[in-house]
Amino acid sequence: MPRTKNTRVFLIGAGPGDPELLTLKAARLLEAAEVVLHDSLVDPRILAAAPRARLIDVGKRCGRHAAPQQEICRLLVEEAQAGHVVVRLKGGDPMVFGRATEEMDALRAYGIGFEVVPGVTAATAAAASLSLSLTRRGISRSLHFLTGHGAEDGLPAHDWVALTRAGGTLVVYMGGKTLSGLAAHFIEAGMPADMPAVAVEDASLETQKIIRGTMASLPSQVAAASPRGPVLVLIGPAMQDEEAFSASVAAVGA
Ligand code: SAH
Repeated sequence: MPRTKNTRVFLIGAGPGDPELLTLKAARLLEAAEVVLHDSLVDPRILAAAPRARLIDVGKRCGRHAAPQQEICRLLVEEAQAGHVVVRLKGGDPMVFGRATEEMDALRAYGIGFEVVPGVTAATAAAASLSLSLTRRGISRSLHFLTGHGAEDGLPAHDWVALTRAGGTLVVYMGGKTLSGLAAHFIEAGMPADMPAVAVEDASLETQKIIRGTMASLPSQVAAASPRGPVLVLIGPAMQDEEAFSASVAAVGA
């Protein structure tokens, strides 16, 4: 949507954490912002890019509900109606597991113009950290973004068989806590227990950690690491560690 004269609200992707992964457009809009409603995941160095703005933390981390979604929508509408230039800053990309729909609906309902600015999503940031392509010719022909988190802290009702059969790369957002249940479903659906699987905590940040394993081993490896930051889980044949892969090819050839 082009920026119109009455655009008051910008839904902006802050990227995965590294401030250098902010888009130039996001940086320019933050510079001019008067109010910034941000998630807790957004790095303080990124918030520093909004020097004039009043910062409101509306973040929700699993189990700690800072502001319910309705309250965030109400605040967005209220601040925009008060005539402020409002930035709604979300981790990663706003359109990927970012509850953008609820907020856009609320803004539309009040006739408030808005624009969405994309950001680097956790999946692509993690792929860069791993030096592994999420798609790979002949090996992984599709890419699936899944939530690992369902209603009431349970597992979502995915079609485990269809996802497993697709044979592509599965990227699980919000799956750090539910990983053992996810793994059990995938293996029961026919996924080989030794399917390459990797968890990336704090992708793109100095605190980044990478845990490599298989679908069967990863849940206990992740639990043992007790991650504090956000965790992204990537599963599929394309997640085979290149070094391990060359080593096994060499071993077969030997
Ligand atoms: N809109 C965000 C996703 C929000 S859902 C995006 O596009 O990236 C929150 C989940 O995203 C976390 O539970 C985690 O799975 C993932 N995530 C976000 N930032 C991350 C990071 N820096 N490293 C690893 N995972 C991340």
